[in-house]
Amino acid sequence: MSPASEATAGEALAAAREAGIHRIAVPTPFAVGRVNAYLIEDDPLTLVDSGPNSGRSLDELEQGLRALGREIEELGLIVISHQHMDHLGLVSILASRSGAEVAAIDVAVPFIENYAEAAAADDDFASQIMVRHGIPADVMHALRSVSQAFRAWGAAATVTRPLADGERLELRDRSLEVHFRPGHSPTDTVFFDADRRQLLAADHLLKDISSNPLISRPAGGEDRAQSLAVYLESLRRTREMEVDLVLPGHGEPITDHRALIDSRLELHRRRADKLRRLIAERPRTAHELAQALWGDIAVTQAFLTLSEVLGHTDLLLNDGLVRELEHDGVVHFEAVA
Ligand SMILES: [Zn+2]
Repeated sequence: MSPASEATAGEALAAAREAGIHRIAVPTPFAVGRVNAYLIEDDPLTLVDSGPNSGRSLDELEQGLRALGREIEELGLIVISHQHMDHLGLVSILASRSGAEVAAIDVAVPFIENYAEAAAADDDFASQIMVRHGIPADVMHALRSVSQAFRAWGAAATVTRPLADGERLELRDRSLEVHFRPGHSPTDTVFFDADRRQLLAADHLLKDISSNPLISRPAGGEDRAQSLAVYLESLRRTREMEVDLVLPGHGEPITDHRALIDSRLELHRRRADKLRRLIAERPRTAHELAQALWGDIAVTQAFLTLSEVLGHTDLLLNDGLVRELEHDGVVHFEAVA
């Protein structure tokens, strides 16, 4: 990071602190590194996201709160931004120690309250998608084991305060608008302080990494949601908002959300175009397309790269530029002449 952007990040965090919002970066075992929880000094004392379910994460979160003169027992409200385990794993422990209310968007409640079953159903769903799109069975089984090994980093929690899209979460000193912004996951929610033009965005918008619109089991219904198409629509809606400061779920604050969103939209346009050209050469499965783009893919990355490719083939299908050819349960994408 350059000194200039460090200064900007420092200033941005100072602006957040001035508004009573303090970042606590909690360790995770995942490639993404630390996850940002945010303490909001208000009434009720509010924590947005928690970190994963581990002793070390709990310890560091607790130390972070103490450094701010606070104890877990003082929390009055815990807000969950989305269903991923690095954001919700500690919620149940924090809520039982503090008696805090737990708030999350209504569509996330079944997942959060039945975490183990929901995560297992996600794995079943992912396995079907992987086989259908050309990932070899041994890779699929290896990924299932990895996923099961990581499952305990999440945990179920009881949501006492389900939120509706568009409602306001009223604290003593601020009003947070609740906006549903699915795409990175099926339950992403951002919280907007319109008076201060500050947006708690979790993983909907990250500064240094393009939020992976993971293929995931839809909240209702059978069909796979078009994660990237949904995500791009969510980004366009956020682009319209009057925001000075975005506080993301990982990494540093964002002060130029429109430029960042424009660069993400452009990245996805270029990638869809590249995939269209690869498909025009000859029909390929999504897994073959991922290999053509990124070479030999580490087993643990196979589902991420598959998600990325399927996001773009969805866009090409929607535009009528490619079609699916299904043979023996495996899909090849073919150019439409
Ligand atoms: Zn996430």
